[in-house]
Amino acid sequence: MKKTLYLRILIAYFFFGLFGFFAVATIVSRLTAEYCIRDKARTLYGEAARISDTYALQLYNSKVSLEEVQAQMEALSFYMDTEIWILNPSGRMVVNSSHAPDPSQETYVENFDSTSPAGNYYTTGTFFDSFQEEVLSVMAPITSDFKIRGYVVIHMPMKKILADADSMLNISYMLLVILLVLSLIILLFFTEYVYRPLKRIIAGAEQYALGNMHYHIPVEREDELGYLSASLGYMADTIARAEDDQKKFIANVSHDFRSPLTSIRGFLEAMLDGTIPPERHEHYLQVVLGETDRLTKLTNGLLTLNNLNTGGMLLQRTDFDINAVIRSVAASFEQTCVSRNIHIRLVLTGKILYVNADLEKIQQVLYNLVDNAVKFSRPDSVITIDTTEKGDTVFVSVRDSGIGIPKDDQNLIWDRFYKTDLSRGKDKKGTGLGLSIVREIIRAHDENINLVSTEGVGSTFTFTLRRSDKNDSLSSMGEPET
Ligand code: ADP
Repeated sequence: MKKTLYLRILIAYFFFGLFGFFAVATIVSRLTAEYCIRDKARTLYGEAARISDTYALQLYNSKVSLEEVQAQMEALSFYMDTEIWILNPSGRMVVNSSHAPDPSQETYVENFDSTSPAGNYYTTGTFFDSFQEEVLSVMAPITSDFKIRGYVVIHMPMKKILADADSMLNISYMLLVILLVLSLIILLFFTEYVYRPLKRIIAGAEQYALGNMHYHIPVEREDELGYLSASLGYMADTIARAEDDQKKFIANVSHDFRSPLTSIRGFLEAMLDGTIPPERHEHYLQVVLGETDRLTKLTNGLLTLNNLNTGGMLLQRTDFDINAVIRSVAASFEQTCVSRNIHIRLVLTGKILYVNADLEKIQQVLYNLVDNAVKFSRPDSVITIDTTEKGDTVFVSVRDSGIGIPKDDQNLIWDRFYKTDLSRGKDKKGTGLGLSIVREIIRAHDENINLVSTEGVGSTFTFTLRRSDKNDSLSSMGEPET
C-alpha cells in the first residue's frame, strides 16, 4: 500500500487512541487507586485521632463506661461505613464496633505489632489475619501521661475504596473518549480542508507533468493551499506561453530564412535555364548577394540574441566616453545619410561624458537605434542624438522625424521578428531582431529604455546608463556640442 500522508495520520490517530486507553487502564488506574486509598486513609486517620483524644482517652481515664463507648463506636462506624476497634497495647480487643467483646472472654488480635505500619499511618491487607477480605486500616495511638494506653483502629473494606476509584477512573475514560471524538473532528476537518485540496493539487501537478498545461486546479482559496495551486497554475501558464513562443519563434525563423532562400533559388534557376539573359546576370547576382547579406544579418542577429539570453549576459563593464561612441556610430552612417540628405545632429553634454557599461554592447544598441532612425526617416530630415545627465544617470536619446510607430505596435516592436505594417514597405531587409537585442542589452545593464512616438511625426528612443565617477575628477565641463 502507498504510504500516503493521510494513512500515516490515520495510523498515528489509531495509536494515539490505543495508547490513551492503555495509559488510562494502567497508569491512570493505578494512580487513581493510590490517590483514593491515601485520601481515605487521611480522613480515617483524622477520625481515629479524634476518637483516641475523646472517647478512648475518657475510657482509659474511666470517665465514661465501656458500654457507652461501645455504643458510640457502633453509631460512628455505621455512619462512616467502617469498623472501629479500640485495642490495648498488647492487642487485646477493648471495643469492637461490629460486635461487643465478651467481657468473660478476652479476644486478642493475634501477632499484633503496633510498629507494623512502619512510618506509615495506614496499612492495607487483612490486618494480622483478622479479616477474610482486604481492608484499609489506620491506627492512632491513645496517649495519656506520655504513655501509650492503646490504639484506635479503623478499618474500611478495600472493595469500597476501589469502587470509588473505579468511578473516578470512569471520568478519565470519558475524558479520553471526548478527546478522541474531538481529535476525530479535527481529522475530518483536516481531510476536508487540507487533504482533499492537496490531492487535487497533486492531480493538477501530475497533469502538468503529462504536458496538459491548460489544466485548471479546482482549489480557489485564500490560504497557503490556494496560493500553491495558483502558483502552479501560473507556472503552467508560463511554460505553455514559453512553448507557444518557441513555436512562434521557429515559425518566424523558418519563414524569414525561407523567403530569401526561395528568391535566391528562383534567380539562380532563371539564370541557369536562360530565362534571365547573361547580360542581366550581374544585376541579379547583386540581388542574390543582397539576399545572402540578409541571411547573414539574420543569422548574426539570432546568434547575438541567443548569446544574450543564455545564462545571463556577461558584461565587461568599463568607464568610457559615451559622447565619443555616439560620434563614431553617427560617422558610420555618413554615407547613407548623405545619399538621402539626412542630417545627424549631436547635442552632447560636455566634451567627454563617462559612463560605466559594456562598451561593445552599448555600441550595438546605438547602432541598432540609429540604423532604425535612418531607415525610417524621410529624406531631408534631421536625426538628433543627445546626452543629458541627471544625478548618477546619463540619458541617451535618438530622435527621428520619420514614419513613427502606431500606438498599438509600441509594446510589440520589442518582440523578436516584429515589424510594423507601416515599415514593411520601407525596409524589406529588416529582420525584426534589432530592438529585441537592444532591450536585452539594456536589461542586462539593469537600465531602462523607453519610446515616445507619434505616427507620421517621428520616434524618440531614450535609454539610461550609469554615470561614471570618473567624470567627477574632470574639472572642466564643455558647452553642449552641436
Ligand atoms: P528591424 O531590423 O526590422 O529594424 P527592429 O527590431 O530594429 O527590427 O525594429 C522592429 C520594428 O519596429 C521595425 O521593423 C519597425 O517597424 C519598427 N521601428 C523600429 N524603429 C523605428 C523607428 N525609428 N521609426 C519607425 N518604426 C520603427
